[in-house]
Amino acid sequence: MTQKLTLEHAKELDRSDNLARFRNEFYIKDDHYYMDGNSLGLLSKRAEKALYTSLEDWKEHGIDGWMDGVEPWFYYSEKLGSMTAPLIGAKQEEVIVTGSITTNLHQLIATFYQPHGHRTKILADELTFPSDIYAIQSQLELKGYNYEENLVQVKSRDGYTLLEEDIIDAMKDDIALILLPSVLYRSGQLLNMKRLTEEAHKRGIIIGFDLAHSIGALPHDLHEDGVDFAVWCNYKYLNSGPGGVGGLFVHERHYGKRPGLSGWFGSRKDKQFDMEHVLTPAESAGAFQIGTPHILSSAPLLGSLELFEEAGIQTLREKSLSLTRFMMDLLNQELPEHGFIICNPAEDDRRGGHISLQHEEAARICKALKANNVTPDFRSPNVIRLAPVALYSSYEDVWNTIRILKKIMENEEYKQFENTRNVVA
Ligand SMILES: *Cc1c(COP(=O)(O)O)cnc(C)c1O
Repeated sequence: MTQKLTLEHAKELDRSDNLARFRNEFYIKDDHYYMDGNSLGLLSKRAEKALYTSLEDWKEHGIDGWMDGVEPWFYYSEKLGSMTAPLIGAKQEEVIVTGSITTNLHQLIATFYQPHGHRTKILADELTFPSDIYAIQSQLELKGYNYEENLVQVKSRDGYTLLEEDIIDAMKDDIALILLPSVLYRSGQLLNMKRLTEEAHKRGIIIGFDLAHSIGALPHDLHEDGVDFAVWCNYKYLNSGPGGVGGLFVHERHYGKRPGLSGWFGSRKDKQFDMEHVLTPAESAGAFQIGTPHILSSAPLLGSLELFEEAGIQTLREKSLSLTRFMMDLLNQELPEHGFIICNPAEDDRRGGHISLQHEEAARICKALKANNVTPDFRSPNVIRLAPVALYSSYEDVWNTIRILKKIMENEEYKQFENTRNVVA
């Protein structure tokens, strides 16, 4: 950084931003700085319209909406899967929109965790999101294995990030399956999925990734990298709304594998209504669906994915890196004191879409930010996550966020609040 960054500088960056027009596609409140699109993305007008279209189809067609609607519900999950595929470098049939992260993990661990001989363990990491760990624990127990012995969690050396060398060292010959995040939910560290997949496969281990914090924020190459499976939610960077249906990827080399948890929506589409008691699974990722798709919780994604198609994930990633770079530079310039530690990796190829700030007063600093029209996100015990989102955040938003944070620290406004988390934090 050579020259001092100013508001004028932020405005200049906004004027030359070739994605700036997408901001108008979203419902954004004036004088409100939303930095939490990595937890729940904002509503777009396209997503709203897609939801209304499904409601209209129901109003107009009743049961016949399954085949005769503007967007026939019977093929909805497949259509959304094929629209998602370019975001993760997958073939269209390798992707299906279904379930949630946690239910999809249950499905895919039930499918791919096949302990045999001394290969009985599952490898994860100690920084992973709790729900992923709960799913692993119950899948181990369902197969009759004690999870205290059979769940191996790679340790973090600094409490925020993982060393890929440590993960690779833990790929021992008693590991049957590996589950890792693409981007760590707290520190925003991006792992090298290609490298980890190659190392796992050299050792004959199945590997899957949780893309919760990378899908919609950065490009992926799941097919080329040879990743076995992946899961994600669509309500974070993909803006599909609260509780929006999630998605999964299964590499084509696994087509035909019997789902661990079967249900009639995993059928080959032309066979499903034969009503036989022997399942004929779809020869695609569709086989891993279970029951009737949740159309009204999927519909907003259709409108949202149109925006991603128009913007292009590579262009979005470039802007995202530039926004988070601008935020880090501003933090260093404006808040060198006040005890903040930036704990996301600084390098472009090692950070995801959010900035992660550690501070011992993090909980109440977040409350003070909210009282000042900034929406951050707090992760217990001491992390503030700030996600300027390429589709709808401006550089001026970033500038204002840091300006307000500085005011809160200088005036000690955070001291008016208790340093404890809220029920939902
Ligand atoms: C958001 C998130 C979840 C949430 O799982 P759901 O089943 O969608 O509630 C799980 N894992 C990670 C890593 C997440 O970031």
